[in-house]
Amino acid sequence: MRVLLTGGAGYIGSHTALVLLERGYRVVVLDDFSNSSVEAVRRVEELTGETIPLIEADLAAPGAAAVLSGVDFDAVIHFAGLKAVGESVQQPVRYYRTNLDSTLNLLDLMAERGVAKLVFSSSATVYGDPRYLPQDEQHPVGVGLTNPYGWSKAMNEQIIRDAQAARPELAAALLRYFNPVGAHPSGRIGEDPAGIPNNLMPYIAQVAVGARERLSVFGDGYPTVDGTGVRDYIHVMDLAEGHAAALEHLTSGVTAYNLGSGTGSSVLEVVRAFEAASGRPVPYEIVAPRAGDVAETVADPRKANEELGWRTTRTLAEACRDSWAWQSSNPHGYRAERTA
Ligand code: NAD
Ligand code: UDP
Repeated sequence: MRVLLTGGAGYIGSHTALVLLERGYRVVVLDDFSNSSVEAVRRVEELTGETIPLIEADLAAPGAAAVLSGVDFDAVIHFAGLKAVGESVQQPVRYYRTNLDSTLNLLDLMAERGVAKLVFSSSATVYGDPRYLPQDEQHPVGVGLTNPYGWSKAMNEQIIRDAQAARPELAAALLRYFNPVGAHPSGRIGEDPAGIPNNLMPYIAQVAVGARERLSVFGDGYPTVDGTGVRDYIHVMDLAEGHAAALEHLTSGVTAYNLGSGTGSSVLEVVRAFEAASGRPVPYEIVAPRAGDVAETVADPRKANEELGWRTTRTLAEACRDSWAWQSSNPHGYRAERTA
């Protein structure tokens, strides 16, 4: 099977490309490199010994389909999109345009080409403020979301459901990721955020390597184990394997799956795990809570466990070890030098 990975040069896409190639799939990557580097794809080729056809294009642009006219594929994993929550509040129109038009163009293209298998990168963000924990797939979606990024994911889910109702042969999996962390154990590919990281683990990694002075911990007054925010961190290799499982088990209709571990960790637990894995101190200070943050999110992953035959197998300690291997051997990410 040949799988088109939109956004396949990005953090999750590059790890998924590697897992798919190792399982005998062929992959094609389409990316505009707005938040990634060709070097990521080159390193996946190096790790797997396979060649990855690469198409540089903006999937949200009018006529994007034309660039794929000579390219055959049987399934799509749709990672492409913008993902910075805070930036989405500042630039809502850009976020909606990119994240919605890319999906609309893709659905048109798939219908024109008769491609009926789709795996979509959704997010636990679609659940908004948790009404109960752990969150299963029945949890309300798209209620009171606090930012355009989250809305764009909820809207994409609805768009895919409506497209499937009109085109019944379409089989789609909506993968609601919890908090992806870690890197391939080789340390050759990993998360390479542009500028100051928004997310916890890459920020901690940059503190541990000495690129940033200290971590700001956003609040210690939450009703959690130690007052800091709790999240369900999932190793990116487990997440990548979840995509392969979703592809293998695609059935007609649209099915949502939580991809998470089912276990929550606090910010300070992640700090301590990273210090242990890296042998480096991670100085931090407690600051005010970040607007829009919730106290705790934890996945109920049983549906994915049972229906996809998939479960997480890697620990937070392994994620810290692998993130550290990536960060310490690539202190400037895929670039020769960090610019911000
Ligand atoms: P990423 O930014 O590393 O990857 C996204 C890729 O899409 C990048 O390579 C970027 O260059 C590309 N891209 C963006 N706009 C494009 C466009 N218009 N045309 C073509 N390519 C485009 O992010 P990631 O962490 O790998 O996330 C992948 C997907 O998973 C995204 O849809 C994201 O919203 C979703 N997701 C991520 C997280 C997370 O914490 N990383 C959590 C939940 C969901
Ligand atoms: N966090 C923090 N300092 C940072 C970044 C994040 O204390 O510099 C906290 C944040 O408040 C949350 C957890 O770490 O409790 C995970 O945040 P992240 O941005 O990685 O993921 P998300 O908010 O999407 O769950």
